[in-house]
Amino acid sequence: MSYAVALRSARAGRLYPSVILHGRDAPARQQAALELARTLLCEAVVAQDRPCGVCRHCRRIVWPDAAEAGAKAKGEAPFHPDFQVLERDLKTATSVEATRELLRTAQVSPFEARGQVFAVASAETLSGEAANALLKTLEEPHVSAPRHFFLLAPSAHDLLRTLRSRSLAVFLGPAEPVDAAAVEPLARAFHAAASGWVQSGAAIYLLAAADALSRAGGWEDPRAARPWATVAAAVVRSLDLDPPAAAPARQARLALAEALLGGPALRLRSVPADRILEGLVARFLAP
Ligand SMILES: [Zn+2]
Repeated sequence: MSYAVALRSARAGRLYPSVILHGRDAPARQQAALELARTLLCEAVVAQDRPCGVCRHCRRIVWPDAAEAGAKAKGEAPFHPDFQVLERDLKTATSVEATRELLRTAQVSPFEARGQVFAVASAETLSGEAANALLKTLEEPHVSAPRHFFLLAPSAHDLLRTLRSRSLAVFLGPAEPVDAAAVEPLARAFHAAASGWVQSGAAIYLLAAADALSRAGGWEDPRAARPWATVAAAVVRSLDLDPPAAAPARQARLALAEALLGGPALRLRSVPADRILEGLVARFLAP
């Protein structure tokens, strides 16, 4: 699912209880979690105006580090009791003790807002025991008020399969900075071929779509992540081109973009780049 759709669902009060925010970099993931949390707890009367940015909920939903810095400047710490962040506490893991402590808060009713939001800052570092404790909470129906969990990670594939299967993955975009000028012609050529496939069902269009992406170049170095980030960005960009793709095709393209970011791992198994592109395009666009 795209971030824009997740935001619309949050405004409508229909956001899935457990959401994986993955892609981009850590600050971008935090920003997405904050905006969604404000949207869910904002008290603006008109849903379209959420997050309003000025109500007593919006103003106090801040990331813990930012809260400390802001407190020094203003002499007060913004803090919302119904928005909690679980940070990685040991050097390499998010411990089960810290996770259980967070989950205990999830057993009580919201203090002030109409719901509760919990963010796990580095969900890929949840220890197995911590992930299972979280999983158990996700499986319990909430009793009184809406309860939302955001799991932040570089890639949804870094999380346990059981957590993934109970969560909605929202892809924020590739992590590597990509050259927008290089992305545009790739996006247009891919869009034309992928639209041709939807209209005609002729396999030649799938090959053309893969070929369009292969023009990104830079495939010689099997460890290079940039060409994969470029083609993933081109596929995401194609969603904004005319004529717009229908909803199922959009979802297929988003899934393809995510899979393309895993390209370097496949390259290291000595699969040539053009073969990977053809395989992934066929798997996601023509399942
Ligand atoms: Zn607000």
